[in-house]
Amino acid sequence: MSSKVLFTSCKYTKYDPDETLPRKFVRLIDAMNMGPTVKGKLVAIKMHVGRNIGYTTIHPMFVKILVDKLKEYGADVYLTDQTVEGAANRGYTREYFDAPIVDACGVTGKYFYPVDVNFRTLKNVDIAGNIKDADVLIDLSHVKGHGSCGYGGACKNIAMGCVTDRTRSQIHNLEGGLVWDKNKCVHCGLCVTNCNHTANSFDEDGNYTIDYHACTFCQHCSKTCPTHAITMDAARFNDFQEGMALCTSTVLKNFKPGHIFYINFLMNITAVCDCWGMSTAPIVPDIGIMASQDMVAIERACVDAIKVEDFIPSGAPSGQELGTEGHLLYRLHGRDPFVQINLLEKYGMGSQNYEIEEIK
Ligand code: SF4
Ligand code: SF4
Repeated sequence: MSSKVLFTSCKYTKYDPDETLPRKFVRLIDAMNMGPTVKGKLVAIKMHVGRNIGYTTIHPMFVKILVDKLKEYGADVYLTDQTVEGAANRGYTREYFDAPIVDACGVTGKYFYPVDVNFRTLKNVDIAGNIKDADVLIDLSHVKGHGSCGYGGACKNIAMGCVTDRTRSQIHNLEGGLVWDKNKCVHCGLCVTNCNHTANSFDEDGNYTIDYHACTFCQHCSKTCPTHAITMDAARFNDFQEGMALCTSTVLKNFKPGHIFYINFLMNITAVCDCWGMSTAPIVPDIGIMASQDMVAIERACVDAIKVEDFIPSGAPSGQELGTEGHLLYRLHGRDPFVQINLLEKYGMGSQNYEIEEIK
């Protein structure tokens, strides 16, 4: 049996407010039938409120529509993110929403519930207190590319945003992919000067270091190295994604069946994640909004909707050459976005077998 993914498109046939996304979003929320589940319940909306001068997170108008709808259904609503510092810069304010906006782990970052896991460097999934305490979770995500996992959506919103710095760091420590052979390096510096992303450097001891958050795996460094001192280790790409899937499943196990709703915004789909604190042009035209109660189904539907033939070159850094094979996000970042989805399925988070129901 396939999982249902509701979809409302940003396409329109005439200049009519009813055909625009805010009105369509209201109809999408109605179709989600959240009322009976959220009535009288404490409902957390987990979203990424962005950082610094980023302006392409979910527009506050849509968040306000969601908050008002949940209140109409009788829910006690609050918004939360890993840190809500600077949220007001993008219009996410308590005054506008008439709902609290709180740090997921409290103002001290010390309010969490630790769970032991054992996957390489990932040993502790510290579940944010203000996530675990909710009866119902709305995973409200902005879809975009991601340097470490190709795609960032509902899973990334949970794995990186509902835990402590300790857990995030343990997941980031799973990253990898470039291997440097000290014995072959002649310290010519070509790898650093040919990196367009300021992602590599040599530390004071002369060891090659990579900032995997910035690295796009373009392989300029490995390709320009005259001694072949830098090579790719493809297997380690998957560890980061498995850490994300494991973390997500550990956090979400705390909710009763049917008490999590996923809403993904496929608008302003930028090359990299909102946590960069900046915004670039979109890599594809706006698509619309999806909603589901199956994380795997909605993530798969979103990745499927981002098509290579719709690529807008101004969304990628000038001069960056895309790969020639696979999904657009794979060509952009060298990370297969389907790996994350396969792993989410392995961890029992849902099914890739989905059917779209369009809400007009
Ligand atoms: S793969 Fe590309 S982005 Fe990453 S360190 Fe090498 S040159 Fe920089
Ligand atoms: S390009 Fe190769 S040899 Fe030159 S500094 Fe970088 S790793 Fe070393």
